[in-house]
Amino acid sequence: MTVFASTDYNAHEIVSHFHDPASGLRAIVAVHSTVLGPAFGGCRMYPYADDEAALADALRLSRAMTYKAALAGVPFGGGKAVIIGDPARDKSDALLTAMARFIDSFGGRYQTADDVGTTVGDMAVMRRITPYARGLADAAGEPCPATAWGTYHGLRAVARHRFGRRDLAGLSVAIQGLGSVGWRLAGYLAADGVRLVVSDIRPEAVARAVRAFGATAVTPDRILFEDVDILSPNALGAVFDDRTIPQLRARAIAGAANNQLARPEHGRMLAARGITYAPDYVVNAGGLIDVAHEGPGYDPQTVLHCCAGIAETVAAVLRRADRDGAAPADIADRMAEECLAAGADADKPLVSPGFRPYDIGALA
Ligand code: NAD
Repeated sequence: MTVFASTDYNAHEIVSHFHDPASGLRAIVAVHSTVLGPAFGGCRMYPYADDEAALADALRLSRAMTYKAALAGVPFGGGKAVIIGDPARDKSDALLTAMARFIDSFGGRYQTADDVGTTVGDMAVMRRITPYARGLADAAGEPCPATAWGTYHGLRAVARHRFGRRDLAGLSVAIQGLGSVGWRLAGYLAADGVRLVVSDIRPEAVARAVRAFGATAVTPDRILFEDVDILSPNALGAVFDDRTIPQLRARAIAGAANNQLARPEHGRMLAARGITYAPDYVVNAGGLIDVAHEGPGYDPQTVLHCCAGIAETVAAVLRRADRDGAAPADIADRMAEECLAAGADADKPLVSPGFRPYDIGALA
């Protein structure tokens, strides 16, 4: 396995491997960039087919975190931790403790939170060893609603840009996935008078949405292809590819799922089909904004206020995409790179401790 030869290697600052024979932990931490602040990114636990797949995930996801943080205006760089193993079978307090020691060894240069295969409860175990395991539960023990609130505001920005609408009443939105983000999003949209079409592989979640929001249920194989104003993927990655894009009937896309485009060119394919795409990492930055506020004086209302600022960032991306005749996904990357360049050049980082949203006036 060679890091530098990997196609996912992108001038990462640190790539570190860790093995703890006693607990069986095998893990990789990739620090992509600390230009704008300490590298932050979730700790994923997954039964990777091999070490190379784990490394590729860490490299790719840590870079994405750099871009997400840059456009969210939070003082973080990008990193990612991956634990090679099956969370249902291999996770133990001993393994989490060993992982916490590994993370602590970065002295704060890398900081983590819950992700696929880990929970806010796991972070609480790790916090006994290191303060750099973040991610708090809300009062009900769920991850906080910040991601759903940010996604809602990102979607509103798309509606405004695409349909000239300040409100959402009467628009139709198809939601794929009614988990912690999709369910909350459905609630916000229903309250705005949106006509909802929903799907989940958990029939009980779908039945609940039909009852609670008057949503129309469709099967998981149909949800992407519904004839709606906005499609909101909140379940899986890589949903837009050579097969699905030609069949889409939605006019616009705004959802929280990570890595919605199977490959970068799929952002251009969406644009060529006239479908307005709000880049996933801009839309779903609410959780990151929330983590950035953790600590003494944490105020959920301030967090939600900052998450609403995602609307301005989405609007800036879409305006510039129109102006330049480019795909919004490419424009978001370019804007993030501009933030990084500004942050690297300045005496002080571009982002402020007040976590202003991305300064759209400067670059839009
Ligand atoms: P979740 O696991 O709570 O919910 C995902 C839902 O999708 C589940 O209800 C699941 O049954 C459903 N699902 C799975 N496969 C499906 C399919 N083929 N068709 C329809 N539904 C399907 O996850 P979440 O926390 O709500 O996150 C949703 C997405 O947003 C994920 O891609 C996640 O990576 C991304 N995201 C989440 C956060 C966050 O703070 N939770 C932050 C950034 C990005």
